[in-house]
Amino acid sequence: LRDADTPVDETELAIEGALRPASLSEFVGQQKVRGQLQLLLEAARIQQRPADHILLSGPPGLGKTTLAMIVAHESGRPLRLSSGPAIQHAGDLAALLSSLTPGEVLFIDEVHRMARSAEEMLYLAMEDFRIDIMVGKGAGATSIPLDLAPFTLVGATTRSGLLPNPLRDRFGFTAHLEYYEAEELEHVLERSARMLGVELPPAARAEIARRSRGTPRIANRLLRRVRDYLIVHADGAASTAAVDAALDLYDVDRIGLDRLDRAVLEALVRRFRGGPVGLSTLSVAVGEEAETIESVVEPYLVRIGFMGRTPRGRVATPEAYAHLGVPHADSVLR
Ligand code: ADP
Repeated sequence: LRDADTPVDETELAIEGALRPASLSEFVGQQKVRGQLQLLLEAARIQQRPADHILLSGPPGLGKTTLAMIVAHESGRPLRLSSGPAIQHAGDLAALLSSLTPGEVLFIDEVHRMARSAEEMLYLAMEDFRIDIMVGKGAGATSIPLDLAPFTLVGATTRSGLLPNPLRDRFGFTAHLEYYEAEELEHVLERSARMLGVELPPAARAEIARRSRGTPRIANRLLRRVRDYLIVHADGAASTAAVDAALDLYDVDRIGLDRLDRAVLEALVRRFRGGPVGLSTLSVAVGEEAETIESVVEPYLVRIGFMGRTPRGRVATPEAYAHLGVPHADSVLR
């Protein structure tokens, strides 16, 4: 799945790591999920057992990996990181599971992209901490049961609907992460600016928050671009003018939409006259995978009221027309 905001550069990755909150109390927003996790971890701690399996869903950059790290850190357990695309055979999963130490937290990102055969192995592993390993082929094949150390699985997915029901049902706790409010992103930025040594007055902070698409990862990334701008222009504190100049350079518009968001809106409004249009048609029109559009682009456009989903397809709202500066009379209202 494409995630334009995942840093590829190693220094950027290191900075992103350094900005990660290490405890639930430092984790900004998502109050309900935080409270639920706190209770879950506390109960496990009192009973001295690994916590229930946890499924986190939501668009990229909202804190799923961070929460998995916090779960491990707060329960004083080691953490193992893997991802669905890395598990292409049941054998990959068997190797991973059988090497876990008792109580270890296993994080599987994009858990919906695991191979089918591995998924089935995972059902038994999650339920009974046991797997069956097939040895041999054909008529002589036998399965050898193997006991595993108890572990906590933290699975992450962009949409929980992508998971087959039997897998989803085996998570004792599931949470959906929501986009963040501007004030919450301001908190994230305040903390990050302090850590990066950037002087960020409230007005500049609010401006970055407004343009961060409800996403902490984007807020941190935009802050780094503003920091670059300040370094190059030898400015001390970030003014709103500096923020605007830096962010305009990176194709982030006034309300935080990026190039792909705008491409989808433009296609919907201009090419398909406001819709309704099906996901696959839209995907071909903008040259982007349907899964990316559905999991990354649409949730935000729906959330800000620019797009609606109807049984007949996606439609643009009057607000979307206004943002693009297209007269709404052009549309065939449905
Ligand atoms: P995901 O796994 O959902 O794609 P991550 O957990 O990798 O997202 O988060 C991306 C970045 O955003 C991290 O570097 C982290 O610093 C920051 N971040 C995410 N959620 C929060 C939060 N609630 N409070 C502070 N920072 C956050």
